[in-house]
Amino acid sequence: MSTAFTPVSEADRAAVAEQLGRPPRAIRAVVARCPSGHPAAISTSPRLPDGTPFPTLYYLTCPRLCSLVGTLEASGLMREMTQRLTDDPELAARYLRTHREYLAERDAIESLGTDVSAGGMPGRVKCLHVHLAHTLACGSGVNPFGDETLELVRQSWPTGDCAAPTDS
Ligand SMILES: [Zn+2]
Repeated sequence: MSTAFTPVSEADRAAVAEQLGRPPRAIRAVVARCPSGHPAAISTSPRLPDGTPFPTLYYLTCPRLCSLVGTLEASGLMREMTQRLTDDPELAARYLRTHREYLAERDAIESLGTDVSAGGMPGRVKCLHVHLAHTLACGSGVNPFGDETLELVRQSWPTGDCAAPTDS
């Protein structure tokens, strides 16, 4: 189950706005923090204030972490992961469970009346940012691909000043 959510302070809201380059939409909680303390992932409401569906429940916000995950995605990892769903029925079953739990968590907030979850679940692996944010929010053992992504970025996940502007 979800770890303790911290309420969104004005300081966190401002930090996320700076990370995203725009005010955060439909933010509910900061669900994970970087080692340096700023928000790493947030949870959002299933709808924007104007009622537009906003089905992705967890977002990575730390630019450094997003960039590390982007590098992994560029390596073709998602294709391999998707292929493993075909080759490994046990993994596919775990991933289906992840999909259902994701929907259950979202429906507990507000049902969008759809079984579309996020990140390609349950048949494909499409966005490692989505999966890592899910793992950071819910802990390991919930999302197998989020867990794998966390292991892969753990070495390089900055412990210092990753709130500083990215050097792009
Ligand atoms: Zn960070």
